[in-house]
Parts: sequence; C-alpha cells; structure tokens
Amino acid sequence: MFATGEPLAHSYWNVVFKNLRRDAPTNTVLLTVDDRSGWTTAEQADLLNKLRRQMPRRVFFDAVIPAGEDKVGDTALMQALQSFDSDIAVVARAEKMDDFDDHAFTLPSAQVVRNTKVVVSAWRSNFVYYAISAPYTVTIRGREYQTLGAALAGVQSGFESDYYPDFSIDPQSIPRVRSQDILSGAPLPSGLSGRTVIVTSPERVPSIRYFGHRLVPAVALDIAGAAGLALPFSVSFGQKFGSIPMLLLAALLVVQGARARRRTKLAWYIATVATVIGLPALLRTQGIVFPPDCALIFISVYAALRLWQKRARRIQLTSAAGLPNLLAFTNGTMPVGADMVVAVVARYEEMLATLPHELHGEFARAIARRITAGSGTDTIYHGESGQFAWSEEARPLETQLDHLEGLRALFASPLQIGAHTFDTNIHFGLDRNEGLDVPTRLNSALASANQAMASGRSIEMFEASRLAEAPWELSLHARIEEGLRNGEIWLAFQPQFDLTSNRICGGEALIRWNHPTRGAIAPDAFILQAERAGRIDALTYWVLDLAITATLALNARGPRFQMSINLSAQMVDKPDLVSNFSEIVRRRGIDPALLTVEITETSSVRNRPAACQNLARLRELGFRLSIDDFGTGEASLAYLADLPSDELKIDRRFVARMISSPRDRIIVANTINLAHALGQRVVAEGIEDAPTLQLLRDLGCDCAQGYHLGKPIAFADFEKDYDASLGQGRRTV
Ligand code: C2E
Ligand code: CA
Ligand code: CA
Repeated sequence: MFATGEPLAHSYWNVVFKNLRRDAPTNTVLLTVDDRSGWTTAEQADLLNKLRRQMPRRVFFDAVIPAGEDKVGDTALMQALQSFDSDIAVVARAEKMDDFDDHAFTLPSAQVVRNTKVVVSAWRSNFVYYAISAPYTVTIRGREYQTLGAALAGVQSGFESDYYPDFSIDPQSIPRVRSQDILSGAPLPSGLSGRTVIVTSPERVPSIRYFGHRLVPAVALDIAGAAGLALPFSVSFGQKFGSIPMLLLAALLVVQGARARRRTKLAWYIATVATVIGLPALLRTQGIVFPPDCALIFISVYAALRLWQKRARRIQLTSAAGLPNLLAFTNGTMPVGADMVVAVVARYEEMLATLPHELHGEFARAIARRITAGSGTDTIYHGESGQFAWSEEARPLETQLDHLEGLRALFASPLQIGAHTFDTNIHFGLDRNEGLDVPTRLNSALASANQAMASGRSIEMFEASRLAEAPWELSLHARIEEGLRNGEIWLAFQPQFDLTSNRICGGEALIRWNHPTRGAIAPDAFILQAERAGRIDALTYWVLDLAITATLALNARGPRFQMSINLSAQMVDKPDLVSNFSEIVRRRGIDPALLTVEITETSSVRNRPAACQNLARLRELGFRLSIDDFGTGEASLAYLADLPSDELKIDRRFVARMISSPRDRIIVANTINLAHALGQRVVAEGIEDAPTLQLLRDLGCDCAQGYHLGKPIAFADFEKDYDASLGQGRRTV
C-alpha cells in the first residue's frame, strides 16, 4: 500500500534535503588514501602506526586488507591494529544495497576478525536506489555486527530496526586529511587528537545515491547516519506505522477545515497543506522520521475532490446561459434592507424557440445586461424559463415603483440577438418583506411577477396573504408534468343533449386533478395557477389530444358526436395557437368540425385583435366556436359582435335561477332569441332539475347540459352511458 507513495516521498525528501543543508560534525575526520595502486599490508601498518601518534580517539579502518601476500606486512598490520587496543574497528562493506545475506559481505581474514572489532556498512534503498536507512546490526554467518553509522554514534539499537541518516549533512563538508600528510609527519592544522578517524580509500568505497546530492561516497552516508542518530530524538515511524500518524493528522486537519466557517476555511486548508509538507521536514531536523507520502496523497486526492465538487457545484448554480441561477440566489444572503425583484419576460420560451440554440445563452445575457444597466445591480440571477431576480436597494414605495417602471421602459427598444430582433415585454414582482428568508422572498417575488404577467400589469407587489400559495405556484410546472404522467390529472366528460331529438349529441371535456395531498383540486383553481405559472399551453394541448381520442372513438359508433373543449383566455392570443391546433387535427386525422372550442373570460385577453384573428382562423379551419358563460362579464356582448361564433352557452347562474327569478327567465329567453337571430346554436348549462329542462325546451333552447342530465365522468363510464343511450334509440329526458 505504501509503495504507491514512494515516488512522492522520494521527490519530497530530495527537495527537502536539497534545501536543508548543514556542515558535518568536525569530530569525525576522513583519512583518505589516494594511492591508487596496490596498497600493501606493510603500508597499511605504517599508516596506522603513524596515525596512532596523532592520538585519535578511535579509528575505523575502511579498507580491504590484502592479507596473505606479505607475511611480514601482515604481522606488522596485526600489531598495528592491536596497538590501538579497542579503539579501532575494521569496516566491511556490503557489495550492494538491500542485500544483507552472508555472501554480500567480504569480511577481513579470520585472524583480523578474531583480534579486532569489525563493523559493517549496509544500506537499504528506495525504488531508484537512493539510500534510505541502515539497520543497527547485521548478522553475518551467525554473528551480529554493528553498522558503521551506529558505531560512530555509539548507539546499539533504536525504536525501529533501522536508523535514518540526516541527509542535511553536506558530504562536501566532512573534514578530511590525506594519507601523505600523516605519512610525512607534517603537523596537521587542526590535529586528530581526540577525534574519530575513518581511514578510507575513495576508489574502494562505492558511491551511493544520497538525497539532495545524487552520488556520494558511501562513507558520507555512514557519517550522515551517525548524525541522524545524534539528533535530539532519533526515532522513526517509517516501518512500524508507515504514514499512519501523518495521515491521521492530515485527516484531522481536513475535517476541522471542512467544519470551519467559510472565512476561516481557506486558512485551515492552507495550514493543513503547510503541515503535511512542512511537518515531516521539520520533525526530521529533530531526528523524528515520518514518511509524508500517504498524507500527501490524501491531501492531493482531497484537494482534487474538492475542486471537482466546487466545479460541479458551480455548474449546479449556473444557468444554461452562464448566469447564476435561482438556486444560487436562495443559497446566498440578501443585503440588509433590500427589496427583492423578479422580472419575468413575456413569451420568453416562444422567443427562445425562434432562436438557434447557440444564441439562447446570449438572449438571457442580453436581458440581464439591460437589467444591470437599468438597476445598477451586477448580479442578476436567472431562472431557465425567463425569470430574472436580483436584490434592489430599498426605496420608498413610490420611488421604487417609478424606478421599476423606468427599468421597464428600457425594454421598449427591441433586443438584437445576432440577426434576430425581439420586442420584449417584462413584468415585475416586488417583495418588500424584509427579514424573511431568501427562498420565501424569491417565491413571493416570482409569484407576484407571474401574476403581473397574467394580469398584464407591469408590477405586482407581493401580499403576505398569498405566501402559502407561493411555493405551490413555484413548483406547479413540475407537478403538472408529474400529474399528467402518473394519471392524477385526467379528463372527465359531461354529456350534452339535443333537445329536439332528446339524444346525446355531444359532450364537454372537463379537466380533473386528484392531487395526492391536496385532494381533488377544482379546475378553476389550478387552471388559474397554471395560467399564472405559464403552463396552460401544455395542459390545453394535452386536453385537446385526449378529447380527440374520445371524439374519434364515439364518432366511430354512428351518429355525430360533437366534443367541446375549453380554451383559456391566456391562450387565445398566442401567435402559435392556430398552427398548433391545425397541426394536431392534421396529425390525428379528425375533422375539426367535430370540435367546439369554448372561449370565456374575454376581459382578460391581453391582445384582443390577435385573439379575434386567431379565433377567426380557427373557424376557417373548420373548428366550431362557442362563447362560454354568456351573460357574465361585460365583454360577452362585444365578443358576440366581433367574433364569428357558432354557439352560445348561457351561463349556469341564469339557468339555475330561471324557475325562481322571472328576470333571469327573461334574460335566458331573450338570449336564446338573440342567439338564434344571429344564427347561433344555444346551449344551456347547469340544468339541475326537470322543470328547468322543460322550461328551456319550451323557450326553444337547442341543447342542454347539467347534473340533471349527467355529471362529468370518466371516459369509460361515459362510453357505457353513450352506448346505452344509443341502444335505447330515443331516450326520454
Ligand atoms: P365551465 O367551462 O363553465 O364548465 C362547466 C362547469 O359547470 C364544470 O365545472 C361542470 O362540472 C359544472 N357543471 C355542469 N353541470 C352542472 C350543474 O348542473 N350544476 C352545477 N352547479 N355545475 C355544473 P368544472 O368541471 O368544475 O369546471 C369549472 C371550470 O374550469 C370550467 O367552467 C372551465 O372554465 C374550467 N375548465 C375545466 N376544464 C378545462 C380545460 O380543460 N381547459 C380550460 N382552459 N378550462 C377548463
Ligand atoms: Ca366550458
Ligand atoms: Ca360555462
């Protein structure tokens, strides 16, 4: 497991020791033998004898003894060695690093081994053969030998089986004297008395890779090893615990950092990195060795993860146009005493649809820029369906409204996106409920903006009473889609009876929503909500499609069946209405004359000329038009004047009171006459009893609809009733 970190640890220590340098202790001196030719035992004896006169404290004889070539010399050397008593040791070196087997060492002759102390030099290395550590002792042929570093430091054993050199020792700084100086008997500048002398011949001592210095003679490593052992602590956790202590420390710091408050977070992370990088180096100067690798890997992985997370979060908080989105707004805080403003762009999605995809972002950004120009606010949050939200400096209400009107005026000049020009119309929702949380305020402002758009006003202020409805409205889009998918939203059908033939001649498709938590939602209520949320189109086309399916099925049974659907006033003036309707009937292969489009709430139509034009074109396509709820709202008569309609539906308020109220009876009777005079067919709705039905028949009404005749029911039941009525031939009503 720890092997994976080795390259990292290697680079780490290499960098650390390139920068961390100190001089070798002066109490250990190298005595270098620079004679490259054969060095006889006689010469070695001579050197040792002369060295002894310098009174060194102890001597390590790091040379191969060519015993057996010169008997006299051998004896002289033995005597010389013995003359040092116990203050000398012969050094045997391992031929390679990491190989501590018996055969790896060439020990001096048996005679030397018997009479003199022998120490060894043996190193472990890392994957690129840099020395790392040395054992305190090595066992060769059953006998334990101390290693040179440990012997120099006078240490028997440690916390671990190995000790770690202090690579900050600069190998160049190790004091040296040359053998000639000893042999010539010349006085030495600093003398050797009381010091440790290592007699060594560089060509015999292999070079070893040393952190921060590449290749150095192995004897430098032994000296660095002793220096490591001489540090205040000299413990290493490398082999026993690996990176675990450092790793735990790093993890602890990271956890603390993650918990820290936003402001101090960065400081924590910097401290963590500094600790993981600096601590092992710092501790090592005190002789405590911690491998940094796992902690470094941990930090790198953690940093990478955090960066990735941050990126993911940034993506999550950014709209497709690259502006911060509404979620980003709700995540943040509002400046104290600020108003929340939401601008919605009328027909945003329609305008997007006419733009090539790559310009969609530019469109949103252009709107945001204009808002910025007008409001002076730099950060405009963007909702994907054309909402722009920001916080606006709170001003007295009148001033604020004037300010927003001014902003709206900025949108009077068309937006230019590439080669496309758009006339945009924006509506504002304003929330002044300082002190509420941002999501609540955003919901309020959004709901108000939608309301402004629905009512055609430029600004709506949020009223607290609508607070409960706001979140519901916000998510209505998703809920409608879901309701359509899972069958919570369904279509009911209510029969209409022909009063001359007394047969079912048609029906009205009425939408229903059985919401799992809100129960049955009345269509009036959620149609209004859907209109406010700008979701009415999807619903209408869904109704149209299902109604067509029902109409086709019923008409396949024989007599003509006329199906009515309701068209929201919000939709009548939409530019793509006619093309969509014609496309749907073409695709479904239905004669549009079988479909009656009921229109109502005429007063809230925004663009009357466009609405009239659309309806006229629908009629040209073959659809029948019906004026719903006739008699309510002042626009009904105007509609009758402007529009080429086919049918007039008398509102149930008049119908219900016909028996009890003579005035209502007169209104109904005259409406029927007026309609007939204009060539309209008349439908009465809301018939709840037999006398009302009879009265309408007497007044010459063509068609009847009401609970008395049949309630709105699911299609399967409707179909059964319809078949039964066909079977009866004539049904008495
Ligand atoms: P509406 O178009 O006037 O629909 C007739 C309403 O009168 C229906 O209410 C129906 O259930 C109810 N009704 C029928 N007979 C009687 C009766 O004898 N007595 C009484 N008291 N009521 C009767 P519903 O289904 O609750 O629909 C309410 C309104 O919701 C509809 O009024 C229509 O404006 C709207 N709506 C329903 N479905 C749709 C739709 O698919 N699209 C649109 N845009 N609006 C719809
Ligand atoms: Ca209707
Ligand atoms: Ca009606």
